[in-house]
Amino acid sequence: MLRPRRLARLLIRRLLPLLLVLSFLLIASRDSLAPHFVPAGLRDAKSVLWVISHPDDESFFFAPSILNLLETGEGRIGSLLCLSVGDHEGLGQTRRRELKASCRTLGIPDERCVALDEPALPDDPTIWWDVKAVEAAVNEYVERWSVDTALTFDEYGISGHANHRATSAALQSVVRSEPAFPPVYMVESTPLLAKYTSFILLPLHAIRTILSPSTALFVNSPRQYLQTRRSFDAHQSQKRWFRELFVSFSRYLWYVSLKRAV
Ligand SMILES: [Zn+2]
Repeated sequence: MLRPRRLARLLIRRLLPLLLVLSFLLIASRDSLAPHFVPAGLRDAKSVLWVISHPDDESFFFAPSILNLLETGEGRIGSLLCLSVGDHEGLGQTRRRELKASCRTLGIPDERCVALDEPALPDDPTIWWDVKAVEAAVNEYVERWSVDTALTFDEYGISGHANHRATSAALQSVVRSEPAFPPVYMVESTPLLAKYTSFILLPLHAIRTILSPSTALFVNSPRQYLQTRRSFDAHQSQKRWFRELFVSFSRYLWYVSLKRAV
């Protein structure tokens, strides 16, 4: 029986280097939309809508999916609907401009990068958004942009923010109640410590995705990683030391895994 300290030493000496090597190999040999990582429904999407809650969510949590889907696929177009302008600190209009700059960096056209400023959808971690208000907003843009696939948060909303979770709950509700609504894929949350593991745990996620064909995995190349950092830099009003730390270690800047809402 291995003692805990010996086990920890063994893991650091043997497992960590192995994970690092496998991660480098996966990033170096990555194919943006490899069939074993991206199900056919997502690969064939033509008009993809990202539904987020605040300006900067797209940089923090969705960039690998945006970059990989929009850099591939003949004629595929991306749109982004941000359900609030992020006015919690009174910076809504600045944050709307920053979102536009971030969208440009990620390849989303200006006219398809919209931040709403609705009283029913305030940027507030203590307020649960009304499902009907979210549904109405999303339905309007799904129709306007002829969306055939939507991406959003999962049940926990990655950071646990009430607005993220309400966004996910509304999208799940609409996909269940409206058979004609496009398929919805949700970026998976991860336990707090695993969030800050950069690309080290990528091989484990890759194995999991291969074994679960309904899930998807998008991996940034080093160039796309730098592009993601630039989209984060567009959000100048949000620059804080802890956010810089987050982006330096966050796995969401390197890869995201998604599951389909049913
Ligand atoms: Zn947010």
